Amino acid sequence: MASYYSAFFGSEEPHFLESCSLCSKHLGPNSDIFMYRGDTAFCSNECREEQIESDEAKERRWKLSARSLRKKSSEAAKDSAAGKNVRTGTLVVA
Ligand SMILES: [Zn+2]
Repeated sequence: MASYYSAFFGSEEPHFLESCSLCSKHLGPNSDIFMYRGDTAFCSNECREEQIESDEAKERRWKLSARSLRKKSSEAAKDSAAGKNVRTGTLVVA
């Protein structure tokens, strides 16, 4: 019966706090838990730092690709704006 209850109460703990999300090391009630972004738990500062670094690398890649997309679309907008101006000028002249 005791094991039934401990399993029951164990299942009430949020799953994401049970183990390090980087190395999957079990996080016991007396372990230090390093939180990141409010819902990710790590066993150590090192594991958390590694996750932060990989997230930042992902963000840098995303920003780089977003910047090149934005550059392309702003150039396209400039081209179409210039085209509109020419057309408007032509209309005014005509
Ligand atoms: Zn870890």
